[in-house]
Amino acid sequence: MKALTDLVFDNRYARLGDAFSSHVLPEPIEAPRLVVASPAAMALLDLDPAEADSEVFAQVFAGHKLWSDAEPRAMVYSGHQFGSYNPRLGDGRGLLLGEVVNGAGEYWDLHLKGAGLTPWSRMGDGRAVLRSSIREFLASEYLHALAIPTSRALCVTGSSTPVWREKRESAAMVLRLAQSHVRFGHFEYFYYTNQHEQLRQLGEHVLACHFPTCQTQPQPFAALFQEVVERNAALIAHWQAYGFCHGVMNSDNMSILGITFDYGPYAFLDDFDANHICNHSDGSGRYSFSNQVPIAQWNLAALGQALTPLVELEQLRASLELFLPLYQAHYLALMRQRLGLSSAEDGDEGLIQQLLQLMQQSGAVDYSLFFRRLGEQAPEAVVRLLRDDFVDRSAFDAWAESYCARSARENGSQEARRTRMHAVNPLYVLRNYLAQQAIEAAENGDYAPVRELHAVLSRPFEEQDGMQRYAERPPEWGKHLEISCSS
Ligand code: AMP
Ligand code: MG
Repeated sequence: MKALTDLVFDNRYARLGDAFSSHVLPEPIEAPRLVVASPAAMALLDLDPAEADSEVFAQVFAGHKLWSDAEPRAMVYSGHQFGSYNPRLGDGRGLLLGEVVNGAGEYWDLHLKGAGLTPWSRMGDGRAVLRSSIREFLASEYLHALAIPTSRALCVTGSSTPVWREKRESAAMVLRLAQSHVRFGHFEYFYYTNQHEQLRQLGEHVLACHFPTCQTQPQPFAALFQEVVERNAALIAHWQAYGFCHGVMNSDNMSILGITFDYGPYAFLDDFDANHICNHSDGSGRYSFSNQVPIAQWNLAALGQALTPLVELEQLRASLELFLPLYQAHYLALMRQRLGLSSAEDGDEGLIQQLLQLMQQSGAVDYSLFFRRLGEQAPEAVVRLLRDDFVDRSAFDAWAESYCARSARENGSQEARRTRMHAVNPLYVLRNYLAQQAIEAAENGDYAPVRELHAVLSRPFEEQDGMQRYAERPPEWGKHLEISCSS
């Protein structure tokens, strides 16, 4: 295990040069303090978890100190925001500090979000507030614990530096880890600015660093696009199966790696609602829960457009058409698991659709806890308990009858069924109100709640002693929190 000072850097993206990113030093925040760190994320860099307790740790991740081999860069990109093209985005408040190579030879980007002004800050102040930094931290580590592809978060540092949003808040930084910070919007930038040589260079960089199996294909860029489609189909299937609402699926927030990226006003569904809009600023519901599927495909089409100088249109179209069937196959597989079905039957899709319709109609079925409870007892016994949450009880009874009959065609004991289901259905869910309570405590200088919440959520499938309050249904007020974009 390593000390913080022993990290090894190899800054491949920085070497692409000034057409791709600009050298910018972090602007430190005052009186830095560690709010929360993730030992699991530290392990990705081979860091000794005890390092988080050192004073230098908070200083480094608050912009006060830098490794001599780090090369902080602000990346340039553009993208489609709410359907309209914005030609000038880029890292307005985050810096790629460098790429760290761990003992296993894996590369991890160190990205410090909230690090101050850059050439792409536009009207912004280059800062991130404590609440949004904590939200990004909690979600990154929680989605990972659910086995949903995501960027990671190493730590959050807080400070006494004031920032103005709707009110006075304090500045914070979150250290994000990802194997790449290249977004769809990076490709769009070079395409729309007619820098097609740089577009190719970016494509070659991404192939060499992140898609080595595509690089050896007869048409590497076509293979790359197809793999991005495949990865996103798998990603969105996970979001839909687990009730995750991203909230701002602009093409600049979509990762080329097919990981969940750039957390904003996200939410996990409490009561199931296919039309849920978690982003208070999304009046039309463009990024509503159920729209995430067509929007992902829309974003992939935007990426495909940017790749037209490198790949034949017909090939791009053919790959794009793979998205929906692949998404459906992944989604069906995940939902079968959540329902405890290890075999596949033709009627399974209908069974899932009917269940979601019943939940929708009822309006008060906790999406996550339904699946957890479903595994607790044998099907015939448990459906009698679950039916109380549904408005149309006779419709639920009809569904329950089909489900019990279907479950009876599975092999194995109830004990095995419970183990199987509990391994995929979390007991603990990152609910907005839980995050909010931890944030309010942190804003008052008490970091114990956010640390405890993070620790509980890092093992979401295992019942943990004394943590019952994190497993409860949310209170009514907790279901209607409005999370704004201004962070
Ligand atoms: P987001 O909505 O966080 O995905 O950000 C969209 C764009 O706005 C990106 O280019 C960000 O870097 C930039 N941005 C967001 N917040 C700030 C801020 N406080 N200061 C400067 N740029 C920002
Ligand atoms: Mg963004």
